[in-house]
Amino acid sequence: MKIHQFTADEALASLKTSHDGLSQAEVEYRLDEYGPNRVEEVRGESLIFRFIKEFIHFFALILWLAAGLAFFAESQQPGGGMATLGYAILGVILINGLFSFWQQYRAERALSALQKLLPYYVKVLREGKAGLILAADLVPGDAILLQEGDNVPADCRLLEAFSLRVNNATVTGESLPQARDAEPSAEENLEHSRNTLLAGTSVVSGEGRAVVFATGMHTEFGKIAHLTQTAVKTVSPLQLEIVRLSRLIALISVSLGVAFFLIGRSMGLSFWENFIFAIGIIVANVPEGLLPTVTLSLAMATQRMAKRNALIRHMPSVEALGSATVICTDKTGTLTENRMAVSSLYLGGKIFATTEVRRQPQLALRYRRFFEDALLCHNLKETMVAGKWQSLGDPMEIALVRMAKTCLGETCAYPKINEVPFDTDRKRLSTIHQTPKGVVLYCKGALEMVLPLCKQVQTDDGITPLTAEIRQDFIRAQEQMANKGLRVLAFAWRELEAEHNGEAQEQDLILCALVGLEDPPRAEVPEAMRKCREAGIKVIMVTGDHPHTALAIGRQIGQIQTDNPVVITGEQLRKLSETQLRLALDAPDIIFARVGADQKMRIVAALKKKKHIVAVTGDGVNDAPALKLADIGIAMGISGTDVAKEAADMILLDDNFASIIAAVEEGRAVYENIRKFLAYILTSNIPEVIPYLAFALFKIPLPLTIIQILAVDLGTDMLPALGLGAARPEPGSMSRPPRPRNERLLDWRLLLRAYLFLGMLEAVVSMAAYFFVLHSGGWRWGESLESQDPLYLQATTACLSAIIVTQIVNVFLCKTPERSVFGAHLFDNRIILWGIALEAALILIIDYTAWGNLVFGTLPIAPEVWLFILPFGLAMLLLEELRKFMVVRLRR
Ligand code: ADP
Ligand code: MG
Repeated sequence: MKIHQFTADEALASLKTSHDGLSQAEVEYRLDEYGPNRVEEVRGESLIFRFIKEFIHFFALILWLAAGLAFFAESQQPGGGMATLGYAILGVILINGLFSFWQQYRAERALSALQKLLPYYVKVLREGKAGLILAADLVPGDAILLQEGDNVPADCRLLEAFSLRVNNATVTGESLPQARDAEPSAEENLEHSRNTLLAGTSVVSGEGRAVVFATGMHTEFGKIAHLTQTAVKTVSPLQLEIVRLSRLIALISVSLGVAFFLIGRSMGLSFWENFIFAIGIIVANVPEGLLPTVTLSLAMATQRMAKRNALIRHMPSVEALGSATVICTDKTGTLTENRMAVSSLYLGGKIFATTEVRRQPQLALRYRRFFEDALLCHNLKETMVAGKWQSLGDPMEIALVRMAKTCLGETCAYPKINEVPFDTDRKRLSTIHQTPKGVVLYCKGALEMVLPLCKQVQTDDGITPLTAEIRQDFIRAQEQMANKGLRVLAFAWRELEAEHNGEAQEQDLILCALVGLEDPPRAEVPEAMRKCREAGIKVIMVTGDHPHTALAIGRQIGQIQTDNPVVITGEQLRKLSETQLRLALDAPDIIFARVGADQKMRIVAALKKKKHIVAVTGDGVNDAPALKLADIGIAMGISGTDVAKEAADMILLDDNFASIIAAVEEGRAVYENIRKFLAYILTSNIPEVIPYLAFALFKIPLPLTIIQILAVDLGTDMLPALGLGAARPEPGSMSRPPRPRNERLLDWRLLLRAYLFLGMLEAVVSMAAYFFVLHSGGWRWGESLESQDPLYLQATTACLSAIIVTQIVNVFLCKTPERSVFGAHLFDNRIILWGIALEAALILIIDYTAWGNLVFGTLPIAPEVWLFILPFGLAMLLLEELRKFMVVRLRR
């Protein structure tokens, strides 16, 4: 017989365990025997394959082509020096590929290290006590407790279940939730048995207790893991943008190459000479380092976000977050502390403060059923934490139990025999208990959801019919409490004749009380709200709570600023048409209250149709679809269920709204950084190209050789460029509206600034330095120079050195593209500083060592040349300052 065919007790016996779980010694033995409960990761792509990929992407292919052409040229015209060029380009491909691979590898490692920040716990019973352990420490025979939203950590057999339903999609592919119970099954097949829960699936509703019978690779999921782990990768907007941009730059470089070839031909240069220049132009324009910089920029941002309590699950969502225009946020726990305390009670038609009730013991006697309700109707688990019994679960229920205990002066341990679980659509919970005086159903929930079930009401004079008047009294009392920002719960109960089951019994209840719970807003939230407003991000509260409570909290935290905010309840929302909803979403201040989970998805869909980039928070099972649909799904790290976390792109480790805003800031920085990087590397293309143009058009000796171009692109420019990509957010990035959806990473403004302004300035400086050396050496216009003439070598050295000096200036200009460099934090970026140091060292090596001279075709230059270059660098700085100043003036 298989385990699912046994009764629960037989199943336990067959696993040599009991209802109380295993002993600690037995656990250790079994952990040793069966190994940790972990499914070994199967890599989607092998390391080798990913290594090769770094050498066959778009830019690499262009470079391969260039190298191929150079070798072809060499074969046609041996000894023309083209083989050297070919080897140099191969070197470029190699360095770039290795570097890129290393960045990618490091980024992935960093990401998986971050995932470990989020341990995955399971509630387990051992030696009769409940506790939390890491899922990896589960062994066969462990008894575990599962409830709505939990991932099933191992294959297990149910011992007890209340309205338990599971989603088996990950293992069997069936997407509809299926009911599960503890009865023995006649089913032959384990997967279809109603009493088994499979690892990798999740609990959609209800709760249960189960015994583990297979862990790790022995689970059904473990057996098929290698089949399912090849997840489909979607292409993010940023990746699309990079592809677009690569094509654009490739087009620019190839057309420049062809144009130069044609110009050269018309100027009468030889075919092969021309050929090599065309290749040089192409190589000069390919943005080596772009791809590793994007990776680095994303990776650095993810790490900084983690420090600010936002854990990214998919790297590209970093950038999506930066362009968010709307954040739909939960209230409880995200905007508020989720540190609940009962502050008032409505009993017998009067509102009491909690302390007053404690001083009136007759209330505890008269309304005993209500206090029992507060004590019993919950899903809390008693656990041992550091030697003390503590309740594990919803802080609201903990607060209710605590209140009832102090008011009643005792607890009552009536065993739970059944329950109708809470969900965001029902907004109420009922539990059925065996009391000494028969079976009682206790219910608590939103007044709107409890009131229709009630026929009677408990008053100071006993139980009386629930009149329309009393109904109104309750509704008024609820509003009075809600207006103060309290969360209001209604309580009701009834006696049941015999043991009854389920939802059908939630009727003819006796309404007994309202409770108002206080949940203070988080201290950081008002400031975060202010930042959002400044950053042009709209915040919409979406809560299951009462509209008045939501509004009061909204005002307290500054989400609501206008006098006439739009408050839409779930009921109203159901009646709104698509068009009406989209119109309503235009209002400046919006709150959605008493909404069900499916409605969150509708709101997100409508916002997306309005071309918003939507971030949405969620914690429950029902939030998963909305989290998936949104551009950025954000799950709660503390209160969130496993299901929500799995559906999310980002996890808030502290559940705090303010952390979302911190993450948005980092997200914006990524985009800005890639633009800074582009501005920087595109700039140096111009002083690399102009010498060729001058050479072809004016027949002067070639001011800059291809090897020297490579020295700039792959040597001196590389590290400072990376530094720009990895920079921290600039101050002020949150005082701009989100970037328009259609804004391109590389737009005309950036291209013009880099090519026609900064690039031209650098070209002027380097050509000036070139002619300065030539003229001081007695060269006159029209003279030709031997390629090994010392004067020529010194002149090209001056040209190269000038480019590097101006690029050093340029790092600072690109670092703060909008604001003046004066007053900005110039030296706060360590990679840039190292980059500049390296740049300086390289130029000294290239200019002043025999080795450098040999490889790069240079010769030492006199100090006057440096003195000639430096003022130009300063001039470039001042001109850019002037430009920024003008731009700011024009914008005003
Ligand atoms: P929120 O958006 O504030 O997190 P929820 O969806 O969690 O709201 O809850 C919606 C409503 O459901 C609450 O206002 C409350 O009336 C009711 N409710 C919440 N939790 C429970 C619970 N554990 N038991 C009974 N009712 C609950
Ligand atoms: Mg909630």
